[in-house]
Amino acid sequence: MANFYLPDDANQQIYLDANATTPVLPEIADVVSHTMRVCFGNPSSSHITGIQAKHLLEQTRNKAREVIGATDGDILFTSGATEGIQTAVVSTLIAAKNHQVENPVLLYGATEHKAVPNTLKHWNSVLDINAQVLAIPVDKNGILDHEFIRTHAANALMICTMAVNNETGVFQDLTAIEQVIRSENNNVAWMVDCVQALGKTNLALSQTTIDYAPFSGHKLYAPKGIGVLYIRKGSAYTPFIAGGGQESGMRSGTENLPGIAGLNKLFSLLLDKQNQTFKPLEQLHAYREQLLGALLDTFGSITFNHSFEHSVPTTLNFAVNELTSKEVMDLFDAAGIRVSGGSACSSGANRSFVLDAMGASDWQSENAIRMSFGPAASQQEIDFACEKIRSLKPILEANCLVVSDSTSPQQEVCAIGLTQLRHQAACCWLYVDSDKNAVVIDPIIELIPRMAKIVATQGLTVKAIIDTHNHQERLSARCLLTKELAERYVANEIDELGWPKNSAAIELSGARLSKVATPGHSDDSVSYLLKDTLSGNVSYCFCGDLILPGGLGNTAISGGDAAKMASSLKQLALEVQDSTVICSGHDYQQCFAMDWHAQKATTPLLAKLLNEQVSDAQFVELKQQADEQKHSMSHSLCGYVETLESTPMKQLAATDAKAMLDDKATYLIDTREPYEHGANNLAELFTVAESKVINIPLSRMANAIVQGQLDKDHSYILVCRSGNRSKQAANNLSQLGFENVFNLNGGLALL
Ligand code: PLP
Repeated sequence: MANFYLPDDANQQIYLDANATTPVLPEIADVVSHTMRVCFGNPSSSHITGIQAKHLLEQTRNKAREVIGATDGDILFTSGATEGIQTAVVSTLIAAKNHQVENPVLLYGATEHKAVPNTLKHWNSVLDINAQVLAIPVDKNGILDHEFIRTHAANALMICTMAVNNETGVFQDLTAIEQVIRSENNNVAWMVDCVQALGKTNLALSQTTIDYAPFSGHKLYAPKGIGVLYIRKGSAYTPFIAGGGQESGMRSGTENLPGIAGLNKLFSLLLDKQNQTFKPLEQLHAYREQLLGALLDTFGSITFNHSFEHSVPTTLNFAVNELTSKEVMDLFDAAGIRVSGGSACSSGANRSFVLDAMGASDWQSENAIRMSFGPAASQQEIDFACEKIRSLKPILEANCLVVSDSTSPQQEVCAIGLTQLRHQAACCWLYVDSDKNAVVIDPIIELIPRMAKIVATQGLTVKAIIDTHNHQERLSARCLLTKELAERYVANEIDELGWPKNSAAIELSGARLSKVATPGHSDDSVSYLLKDTLSGNVSYCFCGDLILPGGLGNTAISGGDAAKMASSLKQLALEVQDSTVICSGHDYQQCFAMDWHAQKATTPLLAKLLNEQVSDAQFVELKQQADEQKHSMSHSLCGYVETLESTPMKQLAATDAKAMLDDKATYLIDTREPYEHGANNLAELFTVAESKVINIPLSRMANAIVQGQLDKDHSYILVCRSGNRSKQAANNLSQLGFENVFNLNGGLALL
């Protein structure tokens, strides 16, 4: 029995991303390998080796017919579904070249894999068809709008629908769709993408009027680079690849016999009723229920993005209500669980167009996690996956997903100091003093549950929840958070930005927070300065959208005023020091920590204003020009930043990193969040003392700088899971003047 999810020695992974691709079943891999080594002939050769190859080819074609219920029509071997889709679209559009249809349309399901609409648009333009390409809307369950199809079918040159969706597993009622299409148009070409349906639903294509149905081997335990296209008898066809006349001239090029042999074995397994490789539907449903239970036990509050009633049992698509998909992905990855997520980076929203089409909320669409298993999954594998998922629960609880730079597990959940919480490019700041008094600056609506959890779990007293201005582009979350934290919120009378009325400062242990009016981005903009009582220095300046890492806030919005911005900047310059860390309301450049010195170095207009190289009037002119120019390009940003120049990153391979660590003054910086640490112990991996590893997640970078955790005379090798976050952190440190900073190329994934 094949183990796909059980760990082998080298790679402790639980693979739950079968809708992306599947591992090749060992028995299929054996056949593929045998075909490469022994039965390697060219099916076009007339000698025995060739004849054997041809036999295998035709035998596979016949098995494909049986599996998909295609008693007639053509079965072609392709390189995969994308080629099958091209072939179907090109064949249809060439045949439709001289159509007589007024206002022709090409229809596709709004949740279709991108291969379908992009192919339609491409060939519609290349072949000069000039049809309108229209998406068929879906309802909240992902079901196609049949009335839309009915309305447009008469004018359609092609209709593309999918049997099963790759993100949600939602299946369509093909019989009902067929009735709608054919009642309006007997001749229109109908393609059904069957990629995700194979092995999960029963197909009887010849009993339908589906004209084209593409399939792909790698979605069902066969190798990549092999697929099948079914073409209904009599449907339009133009060879997409011409050449030596293979596949009866329908698709030239020497056939991918090893891939075809893989399909042969796959089809044999699917057809063999005694064989138990592929599990019956009831069992797959039971697996999904089991995974569902483990997810609910672990995360508690989950929103499922599809109805189980309308989807195949091998897919679960959900959003954890209080965690971003990035956090969930990092957690899963740390536990060796491979799932697919929306946003892989923290730079901006990576929404799911499938969920958007279904009318899902922003949170669901931006934070969707897809967990999918193949129909050959075993009970043992699902049990193990559930056990691994449940093993995350204590980690979640212990961390309440607060980030920390502490190396002591007890203190790891402690948010003392400054923590940055981000949603897309918006930044919210949480400052906690040593007596657990907290101040929240620029709260973000999406992060309220998270913030509430941190405050409750750590027993914080919230002295203030303040905004730096009334944010135009997002709902102020202040009121909601205040309500949520009512029991721990101690401020009395407050002004419209949340600042305690008639107070010059908020006293904190060892620090004092004061407010200074800094209009410019908006008339009500203020900055908050956190002054260290001992040194008298301003540790942090929370400036909202007055200053952004690498730029200045936008003034080309209502309330914006470049002249006021100039005087606000000059005013701030008198208050802060070069070492003050500037904490903005947005961070489009992924800087994480920027001190006043680096801010001036990366924002020429600011430096010129402060050095009196430009007058206030010149500043206003230059700023207005820049804002207007950039405003015409984008309307959504709160400020415009230039792409920061970063010193070319010094990338290190693991062996070089290990060698460098022999040096006394070289340290590893682990930029992963504490909840990811369970996955690998860096000190062990690099065989260095624990003292050589410093934990500074990106969210605590600003805190680490102010705390003086790093020394410019030391060398640092930055590490994370994939090498991306650590690269951002390394760039950030370079901007802050650290010269000996290196990134572990490819991160822990390539170790
Ligand atoms: N259609 C669907 C529904 C898919 O899931 C995929 C693969 O992600 C494709 C088409 C493209 O398949 P292939 O990788 O074989 O080109």
